Amino acid sequence: MTNQPSTQFTRTPVTVIGLGPMGLALAETLLRNRHPTTVWNRTSEKARDLVSRGAHLGASVADAVSASPLTLVCLKDYASLYEVLDPAAGAVAGRTVVNLNSGTPKEAHAATVWATERGAGYLDGAIMVPPPLVGEPESVFLYSGPRAVFDAHRATLESLGEPRYLGDDPGLAVLHNVALLGLMYATMNGFLHATALTGSAGVPTEEFARLAVDWFLPTVVNSTLIEQAPALEAGHYPGDLGTMEMNLNALDHITRTCVEQGVHAEQPRLMRDIAAQAIDDGHGGSNYLAVFEVFKKAAAARPA
Ligand code: NAP
Repeated sequence: MTNQPSTQFTRTPVTVIGLGPMGLALAETLLRNRHPTTVWNRTSEKARDLVSRGAHLGASVADAVSASPLTLVCLKDYASLYEVLDPAAGAVAGRTVVNLNSGTPKEAHAATVWATERGAGYLDGAIMVPPPLVGEPESVFLYSGPRAVFDAHRATLESLGEPRYLGDDPGLAVLHNVALLGLMYATMNGFLHATALTGSAGVPTEEFARLAVDWFLPTVVNSTLIEQAPALEAGHYPGDLGTMEMNLNALDHITRTCVEQGVHAEQPRLMRDIAAQAIDDGHGGSNYLAVFEVFKKAAAARPA
């Protein structure tokens, strides 16, 4: 019973445009949560299973958008949003579009103008989980744009996961998305690189992974991320427990060990160069968090 959609619709109708892996997960979740669900996709065969479970397939994009007060757009990018929705411009007037495509803040701002010019309410959003986790109450969905539009659709958006409203600026959702993805890739690369380094001496991956997590969580995550946020905000980096010079030394050792062990050394070398930049900028006596000052500026042009 749990994963079967109920035939008893009692909730707000929703349209989903785009049935890639993520759009399919959104539509399945809405159906399961008893939202009358209309779908449209460029390749209409992808809707077959949803239709067999009670979804309505729009005859056109305009038909699909007209079926619901709220349309979720889940396409490859912002360019495909215009390609798909431009022919339905008349239908979006008086309705709300929530765009869940990945992109940049500038693209989110342009999409807001596009929607406003066509008389549609608009929220920009970002999905922070893979398709199988859509619909779980703790799955984070980020939204930004007019508060009133978010409030009007909050209950419906709760069917997909935990909606986090970030503010009026429509670029905030995608800005947070790329910031968090950058954090994820940097963390994954740090772990993969460290595992390659210990693997060069034959350390089993699982053994290292357990040691790494036991050390990393209390020492790095818990005592740095939240605890140090006020110091970062204030630009306060006292070096009395360890200086940038000391950290440069550590980064040098990592880089030289990689070379000795025959492991890729570019990632630690880049971190070493960033710490060296902080020292050049006058932070040699500060703690490592002063690297934040380097990250806040655009990178100097790299020599060709
Ligand atoms: P995707 O490959 O990014 O997008 C597939 C969808 O875009 C399909 O509906 C496809 O239609 C449509 N599409 C692409 N180009 C089009 C065009 N020119 N005109 C009309 N439709 C076009 O797959 P996805 O995984 O479902 O992702 C959708 C969005 O969710 C993306 O922006 C992605 O970044 C975001 N997202 C995905 C994940 C994930 O884990 N999958 C997680 C978070 C966020 P056809 O079926 O006809 O090709």
